[in-house]
Amino acid sequence: MRITTGMESIVFATQNPNKLEEIRQMLPPGLKLLSLDDIGCTWEIPETADTLEGNARLKASYVYAHHGCDCFADDTGLEVAALNGAPGVFSARFAGPEADSGANIRKLLQLMEGISDRRARFRTVIALAKGGAFHFFEGQVEGEILSQPSGTGGFGYDPVFRPRGYEGSFAQMPLSEKNRISHRGKAFRNLNAFIRKNLMH
Ligand code: IMP
Repeated sequence: MRITTGMESIVFATQNPNKLEEIRQMLPPGLKLLSLDDIGCTWEIPETADTLEGNARLKASYVYAHHGCDCFADDTGLEVAALNGAPGVFSARFAGPEADSGANIRKLLQLMEGISDRRARFRTVIALAKGGAFHFFEGQVEGEILSQPSGTGGFGYDPVFRPRGYEGSFAQMPLSEKNRISHRGKAFRNLNAFIRKNLMH
């Protein structure tokens, strides 16, 4: 296998080692996946855009501009229909800048009290910065917000999100099954397909 266009390695702009390992297992064997640590990028890249696309692009373009490496970055949000798409891009800090998942879930359930339309989706956007151009990849999973938390697995809003067609929440699902149907799993697979098709042969 020969790698073209200088794509011997690519940076994933994330601080999350679990995500890094998840995507490392999916990428073609000839492509080296580097972390921010690997390239000596210690700066916490601010996520100040007001869309998922904007934040993913900010992170990828920061690394490309400052380190000159091809890079991709992801951003995810929970979009609740009855809340006009909130918390969306603010999912991580819905209940305040220092909020943890418990506080975010409590705020969400309070806002959803008495609301019968429980439809929601997770959406992940990945921005790939390559040679000065940007490519975007997306993955979504539809479901609904439960009236109370259920299950102990996963992270973030998993205990209150039930994917469509399933009995339980994401937090009650084995990780392998969640990855198979999840927003992030789909977005990563779309990125992976692009890399295999366009950047390697
Ligand atoms: P990030 O962009 O992946 O860091 O996600 C932003 C926020 O969305 C996280 O802090 C979580 O609150 C939430 N989130 C992202 N992915 C998931 C997931 O798979 N399950 C539950 N919550 C998630």
